[in-house]
Formats: sequence, structure tokens, C-alpha cells
Amino acid sequence: MNLLLLEQDDLQSEQDHSAKITDARRLKHIHQTLNLNVGDSIKIGVRDGLKGTAQVSEITPESVSFSHLVLDTPPPVKIPLTLVLALPRPLVLRRLIMDAVTMGVERLVLLNSRCVEKSYWQSQVFDELQQIVVLGLEQAGDTVAPIIELRPRFRPFVEDELPALVEGKTAIVAHPYATTVAPIGLTTPCVLVVGAEGGFIPFEIDLLEKSGCQSVSLGQRILRTETAVPLLIGRLMG
Ligand code: SAH
Repeated sequence: MNLLLLEQDDLQSEQDHSAKITDARRLKHIHQTLNLNVGDSIKIGVRDGLKGTAQVSEITPESVSFSHLVLDTPPPVKIPLTLVLALPRPLVLRRLIMDAVTMGVERLVLLNSRCVEKSYWQSQVFDELQQIVVLGLEQAGDTVAPIIELRPRFRPFVEDELPALVEGKTAIVAHPYATTVAPIGLTTPCVLVVGAEGGFIPFEIDLLEKSGCQSVSLGQRILRTETAVPLLIGRLMG
């Protein structure tokens, strides 16, 4: 936790510059990992708002209180990237959401495709989505969650929504078998489509291309989705 993310409910009142947290996860982190004492300063941020510092004013087993809240720094800007991700297995999804949030992805679309196992859409990871996002924000020192959308039907999304989404942007689908090499250092906003473990079938690549995406490759080596995503983002946005 590189920043304690405060929700509106944690703030005692806007004027009195104090806050109190009582939930088990943050208390455990403060008690066991940060080992804070009364008087210590801590980096904080308010959900959807500014970042700054606060001073620990009281510690009990059930709560930690803060005073002298100073909120003077805007959160880091997002990267102008929409990541469209074929739904990977839950463990990988958890890590990829964390990574997407920490890297500052503006919008994340989780998409079905032929090689996605149907059971993945029933995974309990979807109940934990908001918690994973909070962990990513605390890791990155951000206060603003990306937009996350679920699209359990490939064709309606690609045919009906994607053309409008890619307008004015560079749109690419990462595909190991493409002949064009992935671009470096884009100066435009970008839509990046990445496959899951099974990749995309030719029909899906065709449909994505018809909707305005260009297929690009990172070379002959087939990478895991969780390796391909940060590599592509670094390359495109670098
Ligand atoms: N078994 C699949 C590979 C899936 S790899 C197949 O043979 O098609 C998972 C995803 O990571 C791919 O769909 C692609 O979006 C991305 N990826 C992995 N390696 C890549 C590469 N060398 N170039 C471009 N994209 C790659």
C-alpha cells in the first residue's frame, strides 16, 4: 500500500480535516505492515479526489484516526488507452486487472471469445473486482478507478460498439501471426485488443479487422497474456 485510499465515508467532515478507518483490511495493513504510531505521517488519497498526507492521531484495535489531512496533489494522469481483453482464467484476470490499474489504463473491456471457457464468466473474481481495483490504486498512488466493462458476447461488441470506440484512435489487435510489427511510441489514444490463453480464431481476427483494428505482432515468440499486456503498453505508450 503506497497510499491509503480514503472513501468519502471515512472522512469525518470536510472542514475538520480528519478521518477514521474501521475496516479489517486496512486496519491489518496499518497495524501489521506499516507499523504506524501516533504522530506518524502517512500518504493518503481521497477516492476520485486529491492526494496528500495525514497524521495518525489515535490507534485502537478497532480503528485508526487521522488528523491534519492535507490534500494538495492531483492523482497521476491515466494513459489514453482502452484495453480490450479476452477473458483469461480467474487467477490471471486478477493479476491483469491489478496491472491495468497500476499502469493507469483508462478503460478496460473484458470480452468473450471462442477460446474463453464459459465457466470463467461465473468466477467469483467478478465479486472481488472493486477490491482488486482498490489494491491497484493503493499500489500506484492513484485515486481514480478505470472504467471496467464486461462484454460476454463477442460479435455484438465487435460489430456494434467497437467501430465507434476506435474512432480517432489507433486500434490494434495483438496477434502472434500478424505480419505487421507492433508500433512504438504512439502519439494518439489507443484501443488495444489482446487475446486470452487460446488467442483469437481467424474469424475473430477478421471481424476485429473489419471493425477497424490492425493486427500486429511482437515477433514469433508466443507470450502469455500477462507478459504481452505490459510489454505492449510499454511499447505503444513509451
Ligand atoms: N495459443 C494462442 C496464443 C495466445 S497468447 C495462439 O496460438 O494464437 C495470448 C495473447 O497474447 C494473444 O492472443 C495475443 O493477443 C498476445 N500475444 C502473445 N504473444 C504475442 C506476440 N508474439 N505478438 C502479438 N501478440 C501476442
